[in-house]
Amino acid sequence: MKELEDRILSEGIVREGDVLKVDSFLNHRCDTQLYDHMGAEWARLFAGEPVDKILTIEASGIGIACVAARHFGNVPVVFARKTESVNLDGSQYRTQIHSYTYGRDYQVIVAKRFLTPGEHVLIIDDFLANGCALNGLLKICEDAGVSVTGIGIAVEKGFQPGGKSLRKRGYHLESLAIVDSMDPATGRIVFREQ
Ligand code: 5GP
Repeated sequence: MKELEDRILSEGIVREGDVLKVDSFLNHRCDTQLYDHMGAEWARLFAGEPVDKILTIEASGIGIACVAARHFGNVPVVFARKTESVNLDGSQYRTQIHSYTYGRDYQVIVAKRFLTPGEHVLIIDDFLANGCALNGLLKICEDAGVSVTGIGIAVEKGFQPGGKSLRKRGYHLESLAIVDSMDPATGRIVFREQ
């Protein structure tokens, strides 16, 4: 998606540790018009495929998913919550995720009553790196017995293994921008032709 790539080129900052900082429009200050265009693009890419609900993960996924939902017939958005607390009453799906940006593990939960077995779920998130966040969401989908229609990602770092592995597993994965390489010394970012 050229508009997203252009914003990454003009405002993205390449950090050491393969981190791309895009907080001026995606992760901290939110450009809602860009979100809207991203939602329209996913709607085009997933046209004709069933979507009853969008699943994402807090925090950055929420805004993107909510705006995208407007392009999918206003389906509800459910976000996995990060939590420290242990709830043993069995009313939640839970899984452990390793955080790419913080380098530690955390628990995420989704209330069972917000995922209905058999429904069709589109997963949306801001970044795809090693795939840990998505694997956690996919585990929750599997536990809930929902069917994953596809995965919409804003920025995939194509030089990290998450995207390749998910496509190999047969998921319909649509990343709006795929970074093939980025250099913290020069700031140069190269995108994959799509
Ligand atoms: P993964 O779980 O695929 O390794 O990493 C994806 C998650 O880590 C995303 O939800 C995102 O929050 C965060 N993340 C991974 N790489 C980057 C990056 O380069 N920049 C930013 N801003 N977040 C990232």
